[in-house]
Amino acid sequence: MSLGFPSCGSTSAGMETYKYLPVRNPLTAFWLRNPDELHEHRSTQELPEQSDIVIIRAGYTGVSIAYHLIKERVATISSITILEARGACSGATGRNGGHLRPDMYGHIPTYIHRAGAEASCEVAEFEIACMHAIKTMIEEQEIDCDFTYTRSIDVWCNLETAKKGKVVYDDMAPCFEYMRDVVYTGKNVGGICGMKGATACASYTAGTIFPYKFIMHLLRGLVHGGKVNLQTNTPALVITKDAKTPNIFTVETTCGKIRAQKVIHASNTYMSSLLPEYRHNIVPCKGICCRITVPAGTTAPLLNNSYINRAKDHALSYLIPRADGSIIVGGAASTFKPFLGQLYNNVDDSVLIEAAKDYNNDYMQRTYRGWENTGAHVNQIWTGVMGYSYDSYPYIRVVPSKSGQFILAGLNCHGMPVIWLAAKGLARMVASNIPFKEPGIPRLFEPHSIGLIEPRMEKRKTEISRAKQLRSSLRTLGAAITHYKLMPPGRDTFTLI
Ligand SMILES: Cc1cc2nc3c(=O)[nH]c(=O)nc-3n(C[C@H](O)[C@H](O)[C@H](O)COP(=O)(O)OP(=O)(O)OC[C@H]3O[C@@H](n4cnc5c(N)ncnc54)[C@H](O)[C@@H]3O)c2cc1C
Repeated sequence: MSLGFPSCGSTSAGMETYKYLPVRNPLTAFWLRNPDELHEHRSTQELPEQSDIVIIRAGYTGVSIAYHLIKERVATISSITILEARGACSGATGRNGGHLRPDMYGHIPTYIHRAGAEASCEVAEFEIACMHAIKTMIEEQEIDCDFTYTRSIDVWCNLETAKKGKVVYDDMAPCFEYMRDVVYTGKNVGGICGMKGATACASYTAGTIFPYKFIMHLLRGLVHGGKVNLQTNTPALVITKDAKTPNIFTVETTCGKIRAQKVIHASNTYMSSLLPEYRHNIVPCKGICCRITVPAGTTAPLLNNSYINRAKDHALSYLIPRADGSIIVGGAASTFKPFLGQLYNNVDDSVLIEAAKDYNNDYMQRTYRGWENTGAHVNQIWTGVMGYSYDSYPYIRVVPSKSGQFILAGLNCHGMPVIWLAAKGLARMVASNIPFKEPGIPRLFEPHSIGLIEPRMEKRKTEISRAKQLRSSLRTLGAAITHYKLMPPGRDTFTLI
């Protein structure tokens, strides 16, 4: 099977590897319109023969891990090589919604149900801390990435879900210190949020960002600093242990082999190409995003906040306004969930999700007051791939039974307020061999927290076999079972977002 990657010889990769490699011709996202000087960079013409650490994948995750590894200044690390299958940052990071929004009460009630208030609260506080750490760094380094520090408004247009939202808010607000930042109201809602048909809204502090610019700034610093060798257009295909020196790995790519003491798998998705054992736990699913503009020479009504909008029909969209007057809108997953074949277990970001491509055509006109006659229209639309972790928690750890290999993955559609500090934690585990408990990562993300060697993997296997039984006995309920597949346990309980 040829993916059109430049190849310097035959490889021993199997078909399953290729199935989960990124495609070569993704749709161009707005953020990637003006590629950075390092987009297709190769620090050296030939792949280095050896590197202390190989990081596979140059998105937000891979670059953040490299950044923190260098910052740790560990004497034993003198070289890091980053392998990227396409252009740098051309995966989800270069095609997302730019919403840096901690989860205050979306999945937290589910976590509380599973693990109690104290452990769940850590997740929200971690995400808030992550947002602040990013803000501080952008300010300190004066990173040009269109960062805004704003209020994110959650809006409910559906009365029934608004009522459920109120119950969650009333339960959580008195119990959690961080909830003091949240303001909830069911009065004068349209006048506050500007949305048609809004019945309730809540707001809290969040950020918006140009993700590609942010990550490419960091990557430039790393590459120009001389300790990081970047190899774009170099997909990693196979990892083997060196027969003579068992502590060394050989990573086979389309452009030759590289040896390393440690290998880091850094991606929200695409995990199954090199770690097939994760194929049931981290499932690639496509999402859609677009940029809406008004006709040249006209001025769009100002939106000051970012939004999560729940329409009457339950479709949930997220939206960030940009200083140039354009709007980035994504989400609306419920409109295409019935067409799973177009997105589930699928890494092809070269085609739109047919069932979703027209949803945002008149989005601003039908959603916001004052936008009716603006002529706002979709200027650019694209897809991207997210790695859905079946229990919503990311994987931040040593790969089971593969000492020397590490993973940071499974960030769902919500990596922006998680990855930065998760990468910092993983970098400390890699560099200093410190255990999970030390780097300040929420304990719910700890792999052994339930006791077994890899309880989340085992649990997923059991659930899959149960789902298979269910499928055979309930054939007529095909749609319901499909829903089970996309929305695994924990996700189908009620959440605010
Ligand atoms: C449409 C969409 C909208 C989103 N909106 C938001 C949002 O508004 N807020 C938010 O918090 N999150 C959002 N997300 C999620 C967020 O973008 C991700 O969590 C984050 O970008 C993940 O970064 P990453 O580095 O782990 O993965 P990626 O950015 O996908 O990077 C992985 C990289 O690995 C490369 N690669 C894959 N396989 C190989 C291989 N074998 N060898 C070498 N390289 C390889 C890919 O080419 C890619 O560049 C969105 C995601 C999508 C798709």
